[in-house]
Amino acid sequence: MSVINGNTRLCGIIGYPVEHSLSPAMHNAAFEQLALNWAYVPFLVRPENLTAAVAAVRAFNLAGVNVTVPHKQAVVGYIDDLSPAARLSGAVNTIVNLSGNLIGHNTDGEGFIRALREEAGISVKPDPVLILGAGGAAKGVAVALAINGVSEIIIANRTGSRAEQLCHWIKEQTGCAASVLRWTGAPVTGSGEYRDWASVLGRVKLIIQATTMGMFPRENDVPPVPFELLNSGHIAADLIYNPRRTRFISSCEAAGSRVLNGMGMLLHQGVIAFELWTGRTPPVEVMRRALQEKVSK
Ligand code: NAP
Repeated sequence: MSVINGNTRLCGIIGYPVEHSLSPAMHNAAFEQLALNWAYVPFLVRPENLTAAVAAVRAFNLAGVNVTVPHKQAVVGYIDDLSPAARLSGAVNTIVNLSGNLIGHNTDGEGFIRALREEAGISVKPDPVLILGAGGAAKGVAVALAINGVSEIIIANRTGSRAEQLCHWIKEQTGCAASVLRWTGAPVTGSGEYRDWASVLGRVKLIIQATTMGMFPRENDVPPVPFELLNSGHIAADLIYNPRRTRFISSCEAAGSRVLNGMGMLLHQGVIAFELWTGRTPPVEVMRRALQEKVSK
């Protein structure tokens, strides 16, 4: 890292916990590569200190911060303006400080879209798209898909009521068509909402694994996808990056599908944040190497 002096610009990440974050390694490697007098530090911010932490972004004239669990939704109420993706998703993962005016962005979903394009050569619109999961990551990705022109999204989630809520929200807020695939795969007679796995997998090209299933240390968990129905026409993206190869990824690959892990999304959400803060073109490969060195498997 370059020497800290009176001109050093500071940015960082606020979260609780925050010590596991890979972002300091990624951003500091990029600053060093470009010889920018910038530094990125982790800030452990308890929920009760969020208001003070946001005020400190202004008071300390930070260039901006990333925002992680559990503050992504709560922080929305404390900043001055929101990007379309942040407004739609109701979640902020990047704050840019423009002379005291704090702008909230959500680069997670856009990072996923960019990863698809840069890492797999896929410019979306492989309608319809199947998303496994109905948590924050699923919602962020659904928003980015809708903004990027996808017109139909199918949601499958262990807790059916959360899948229905997300489905309803997608239809209301994005104008995208949305429906629910029952997690167990059984079609529900009399309901227009549910479709069975076979009919869905026969229609979708892109499957996005956005649950925590298979994430370290529960690496044996795998969503109940009938992998034998997959083929080389499917693209399977897991948002998990630790481990790099989840059981979902290896099962899809064994069925002949193209696969993508969550490393690309993690990288590109950071790449976009870097662009927003510095206005510079980031050294993407340096950032990727810094991440890869930190992820064990
Ligand atoms: P979240 O809001 O807590 O949602 C968790 C999701 O996982 C829910 O859909 C939940 O289903 C499901 N789930 C959890 N345990 C399960 C189990 N045992 N069986 C079936 N489903 C289960 O988490 P999130 O923020 O959306 O994160 C989801 C994943 O995305 C995480 O693995 C995270 O690391 C990854 N992610 C990656 C990036 C990246 O940059 N690559 C960015 C953000 C997130 P229920 O509704 O039934 O509980």
